[in-house]
Amino acid sequence: MNIDPIQLAKNTKICKDCLNIVVGKGNLNADILFVGEAPGRNEDEQGLPFVGAAGKNLDKLLEKVGLSLDHVYVVNILKCRPPENRNPLPEEIMAHTPWLLKQIKDINPKVVCSLGNYATKFFLSLGDVQKMKDQPGITKVHGKIQDIEIDELKIKLIPLFHPAAIIYRRQLIDEWEKDMEIVKKEVRNYI
Ligand code: URA
Repeated sequence: MNIDPIQLAKNTKICKDCLNIVVGKGNLNADILFVGEAPGRNEDEQGLPFVGAAGKNLDKLLEKVGLSLDHVYVVNILKCRPPENRNPLPEEIMAHTPWLLKQIKDINPKVVCSLGNYATKFFLSLGDVQKMKDQPGITKVHGKIQDIEIDELKIKLIPLFHPAAIIYRRQLIDEWEKDMEIVKKEVRNYI
């Protein structure tokens, strides 16, 4: 019998130890899905993704390109905070991403935007966690549309810089805005 992807994630130690499981926020009918890395302290406390410094910057960036949480849904690779915000472990990514893929199937967005290196490398490795380390970094692939398929799920991926990585970095903020024009063009007819 196939194990339920939600239960698979909930069985991990980080899910047992966290305060709240962070599923997502925004509009479940959105055409754009943002995928970050993992909840931090604020997200763990509030049970919502991107509510700390990264989240404040994401709100600002969205506003700059004329969008809001009405136009996107936001999730993470990991649904629970790793202790001390350490990097996700390969076995955690393996246990949590079947839930992520289920979210993508259910939401069925036009475009998936991976935010930063972790999420981008997960998608570019086509879900093969062992191959994540061999993938190009976000600086090389941001703003480039990639048509990929994971477990028969077709995904139009557009990697973006992580909002936490570009706070106060004028040049990278400009790049983020340019990349979002590419995202908006992909869904232009819908929003
Ligand atoms: N960074 C992430 O990648 N996700 C969050 O939810 C918060 C910060």
